[in-house]
Amino acid sequence: MMAEIGSGKKLPAGLYVVATPIGNLSDISARAKEVLKNVDLIACEDTRMTGKLLGAYLIKKAMLPYHEHNGSLQRPKILGKIAAGGSVALVSDAGTPLISDPGYKLVDDAYDNGLRVVAIPGPSAVVTALSIAGMPTDRFLFMGFAPTKTQARTTWFEAEKNTAASLVYYESAKRIAGSLRDAATALGPRPAAVCRELTKKFEEVVRGTLEEIADRYETSGPPKGEIVVVIAPPGKHDSETAGSDISTEALLVAALKHMTVKSAAAFVAEVTGEKRKGLYARALELTAEK
Ligand code: SAM
Repeated sequence: MMAEIGSGKKLPAGLYVVATPIGNLSDISARAKEVLKNVDLIACEDTRMTGKLLGAYLIKKAMLPYHEHNGSLQRPKILGKIAAGGSVALVSDAGTPLISDPGYKLVDDAYDNGLRVVAIPGPSAVVTALSIAGMPTDRFLFMGFAPTKTQARTTWFEAEKNTAASLVYYESAKRIAGSLRDAATALGPRPAAVCRELTKKFEEVVRGTLEEIADRYETSGPPKGEIVVVIAPPGKHDSETAGSDISTEALLVAALKHMTVKSAAAFVAEVTGEKRKGLYARALELTAEK
């Protein structure tokens, strides 16, 4: 008979994929704590981070670093231990493993080796953001981390211009203004929510159009903390642009071939109704990229 999780007895052999808090230490399930307490080994991204987390729950456990740079070396050890009857938990620094975090190959290989994989669900920033962004959630596309360079990022957004779903992505605080500006250029005037420091002391959701929020952060400078961006699907809010196949970005690129940065920004602002300030900043970036 299998030991019941939480009984304090040895766990059945398997890989336990355990979600941990994304900020608030109370956001861990009773089951997650029991599993972390009872497994033979914890595979984690960073032993110092996980050591601190375990300390907060008064858990002491052997840990093995598992991240993208040592995965191929560590996988056989972890899978071998499970095959020999052991139980191994996989955790990431925060949130749910595999969601923009290591673990996919390990889980895949565990199945290939006929091993048991057990989900111990809990927080994930993507779902937490969706729960309070106030955007449609019937369909959403999680896009992971945005590219860091403006050209790649604009193309990345443009590829989803017609996707009938809310778009969700992870972004660093220092790049938030730039990525919202590129999203506005590529997707048009859509509602969005910047969900910051979720479950932490300074949790905040800033809502507005992509342009408005980009303006805000361009003016205020980058905020602090961790961020998830949720963008509403295409809908009536962007009907102003319906019927036009030309993106603001393409218009700006064309205008820059014939005009100064200032005139191109003014011209595109007049044609599209977008804010001149943001277009000017984008025109400067495009000129610098040449
Ligand atoms: N596996 C994690 C999960 O399930 O959410 C995500 C890991 S990913 C490496 C880290 C990114 O998630 C951060 O850069 C940020 O974009 C987002 N994130 C994590 N915690 C967050 C929080 N408390 N508030 C807002 N965003 C957060």
